[in-house]
Amino acid sequence: MPNRPQPKLNLRILILAFVLLAAMATLGNSFWVMFKIQKQELIDNALQANQAYAERIASGVQQVLSSDQTRLQYASLIIARAINDPQQLAGEAQRLLEQDNSFNSVLITDARGTIIASAPASLGLNGQPIRNQGPLKQQQPIISNAFKSLTGHLVVFVSQPVFDAQGQYLGLVGGSIRLEQKNALQDLMDRQVRQDGAHVYLVDSTRRVLYHPYAERIGSVVAADPIVDAALSQSSTALQAQDAHGEQMLAGVAYVPSSRWGVISQQPLANIYASLEETLSKIIRGMIPLALFGLLLMWWLGARISVPLSRLAESAKRLDSPESYQRISAIATHYVESWQIRRALLLGTSLLQEKIGRLNQQAQSDALTGLANRRAMQDTLTLWRDSDKAFAIVSMDIDHFKRVNDTYGHAAGDVTLQVIANLMRQNLRSDDLACRVGGEEFMLLLPNSSLRAAADVAERLRASIEAAQIETVGHITVSLGVTLWRPGGVSLADALEKADQLLYQAKQQGRNRVVAEELSQAPA
Ligand code: GH3
Ligand code: MG
Ligand code: MG
Repeated sequence: MPNRPQPKLNLRILILAFVLLAAMATLGNSFWVMFKIQKQELIDNALQANQAYAERIASGVQQVLSSDQTRLQYASLIIARAINDPQQLAGEAQRLLEQDNSFNSVLITDARGTIIASAPASLGLNGQPIRNQGPLKQQQPIISNAFKSLTGHLVVFVSQPVFDAQGQYLGLVGGSIRLEQKNALQDLMDRQVRQDGAHVYLVDSTRRVLYHPYAERIGSVVAADPIVDAALSQSSTALQAQDAHGEQMLAGVAYVPSSRWGVISQQPLANIYASLEETLSKIIRGMIPLALFGLLLMWWLGARISVPLSRLAESAKRLDSPESYQRISAIATHYVESWQIRRALLLGTSLLQEKIGRLNQQAQSDALTGLANRRAMQDTLTLWRDSDKAFAIVSMDIDHFKRVNDTYGHAAGDVTLQVIANLMRQNLRSDDLACRVGGEEFMLLLPNSSLRAAADVAERLRASIEAAQIETVGHITVSLGVTLWRPGGVSLADALEKADQLLYQAKQQGRNRVVAEELSQAPA
């Protein structure tokens, strides 16, 4: 197996990272779409609102101006009749001024443009020529653009021609509206710059500002500005464009036909972004508790997924230990893959245990006869000694076995050994242990037995071997030595030695016999 370094990432972290990535991708995507839709909606709404607002203001301005003209027209009839009565003219001028505070001053001129009556009288304008000669030449109702009046103020002049009954031009009557002072037009406008930066302003046909919430702008002329161009194009519309100050604006514009003025309601695009950002940050802040909860949930779920796998992996390291089947069975598996791995591990464990069992068996038994080998005998002896169990030892050796080999061959010798092993098995109790400890030497261990009983067993075995008819070989005999080991007495080695000595005695005494004797109990 190539020696690769152990990875640093575990499954739990991988799951968490995966979930976070997926959540962030989804959220990011949703936010982006939401941002786009919301932005477009805000822009569309702002454009619509500004257009509606500009239209409302334009129609209000139109109404104020036409009611001014109606009043002036009515006054022109009176003035035509009283053209030679300075007192009455002054009275009429004063009446127009006071009527509804539309005008900041009122003038009546003769046909050459010389002021013949004015109000308020304090201005002392009588006898002077009017500044704006346009209405004189045109001899029709006029609403002027902004200009500097005789008193030095920026004004708009609304006038009506005065004709006598024969249609002869007698002069004009007009009222001026001072732009930088409170007036009827200003009352129409929203004087506040709204929170979203929206504001409304009014320009005349020469692009001069007639009204603006920033008073310092009144009277200035707006430079190149597509929004003002749109406002003066005689139709109402909404547009997004850069204003004269280089700022992107969302604007609605409307036209006042009678005066050829334009109304502009606009707000900076940047404010839309600011309010969008605020909305988004509110949403994100609102999501944090839920996101934290989700994270904890993912951490917990990650553990539910990874813990069975890591426990299975840990258990797989020790498949050879006898309790591993138990341990793996106890691991809870909640999903298919972990269940499959557990099943595979259990299968592997049982196969391995079976194999180990077989190997153990092989290591403990003799290949030719299947009897316990010397190692197994030693293990059993130690076990019995440690558990203070008395037992008999029978040592057995085949008589003149060399001859068997020499006469019938080694194979026949082997068969003889197997026959004897079978006879031993047949003569033993289940607790007894039969061992092959050498080529043709055997040992019997008989627990809980007296010397007499063990000698009887040995004798029975001897007789059954003598009686057996072995293929090719015929009859053979064995010699046996029997002794008894008791706890607290001599050592195991001495006991085994004693059994061998007794066996030797049996051989000495003519073979085919059993010699049994107690051990002298004093330790050697
Ligand atoms: P004794 O009565 O004195 O025991 O005479 P013996 O011929 O049996 O002498 P000994 O006990 O020394 O026998 C050893 C012989 O056992 C030598 C060998 O030929 C035979 N032998 C030992 N192991 C095996 C085996 O695994 N198979 C076969 N066929 N013969 C074996
Ligand atoms: Mg021998
Ligand atoms: Mg022998």
